[in-house]
Amino acid sequence: MAFELPALPYAKNALAPHISEETLEFHYGKHHQTYVDKLNGLLPGSEFEGKGLEDIIKTSSGGVFNNAAQVWNHTFYWHSLSPAGGGEPTGAIGEAITAAFGSFAAFKEQFNTSAVNNFGSSWTWLVKKADGGLAIVNTSNAATPLTDASVTPLITVDLWEHAYYIDYRNARPKYLESFWALVNWDFANSNLG
Ligand code: MN
Repeated sequence: MAFELPALPYAKNALAPHISEETLEFHYGKHHQTYVDKLNGLLPGSEFEGKGLEDIIKTSSGGVFNNAAQVWNHTFYWHSLSPAGGGEPTGAIGEAITAAFGSFAAFKEQFNTSAVNNFGSSWTWLVKKADGGLAIVNTSNAATPLTDASVTPLITVDLWEHAYYIDYRNARPKYLESFWALVNWDFANSNLG
């Protein structure tokens, strides 16, 4: 069974004007699709054939890991955004952010600093630690907190230039403003459990 590109949880034009339909046509329709296609091309005859995506990510390296993790990371990223998102965090995630960082404003500043300084093609994540507290984690290339059994990913922002070059050229801080306008606190709450 080959992996398939998971459906976007909204229309390709639903995140505009913050993230354009053209960006989603390339980022979802071409980049995410290519990770799925490349993964499917690597699996036949390998020890990973027939395994689930998360199992592959936790046990592989090299090209299989890179493509499998990028398939998972992008699906997680699409759900970290919502046309109905943005604003102050609500519910349990709001309380957890205040407990961990002092305030939403302080969290946002710390997350932005981490994201702006996350060198090259990378991801910045909010995760839940084993003790129930929250932390901001930076990863590079395809690396994902999914491989760290001590944390649970809550939301992520994709910092590869393909995520923002069409809309904001090289201006990562401008793109981060669009992330905060779209961030899906309902998804963070469901991951927080
Ligand atoms: Mn991407």
